[in-house]
Amino acid sequence: AADAEYLVSLIGTIPGFPKEGILFRDFIPVFADPKGLRILMDALVAALPVDAADFDTVAALEARGFLFGPALAARLGKGFVAVRKAGKLPTATIGEDYQLEYGTERIEIEVGAVKPGDRVLVVDDLIATGGSSKAAADLVRRAGGTVAGFEFVMGLDGLDGAAKLGGAPVATLVTMP
Ligand code: IMP
Repeated sequence: AADAEYLVSLIGTIPGFPKEGILFRDFIPVFADPKGLRILMDALVAALPVDAADFDTVAALEARGFLFGPALAARLGKGFVAVRKAGKLPTATIGEDYQLEYGTERIEIEVGAVKPGDRVLVVDDLIATGGSSKAAADLVRRAGGTVAGFEFVMGLDGLDGAAKLGGAPVATLVTMP
């Protein structure tokens, strides 16, 4: 509990970013703080939504999921799959479009990054509506993998994003208003 409080104390809140009306939660300061970074990585391992033996690889969403996804995978002895914004990956990709509040977004993975039968843990910094991580999960499934679970650093109170994720177990380290 003290550790969770310490983590929360490092998370910044920026009203009006990236646009008016949004209360932006910024966990970047956690990475600058040695104790905070240790707590974050330990907590991600301790709070895994499924046993580490039950997945093969960690997939994270660009960009903030990339800050801890590979480090988490390395700690667990797993591989890492980059889920990128459209047009960034150099080889053949599979992509998924999803709705944002305004407009649509497209994310992609490289063909072969998730192999048929791979069991994948999907991670991101924050879950709001769940749309981004659902799209990532759909990509994993289209590649022939299964989604073992989801892990987020932050969840937003009152937005039941996890309900969109189709029943796979979800772990969230801290919940923010
Ligand atoms: P969702 O798709 O509605 O669940 O939104 C989650 C996605 O938007 C994640 O990729 C987050 O990185 C990003 N996001 C939404 N709100 C915030 C925020 O307050 N801080 C940081 N990222 C956010």
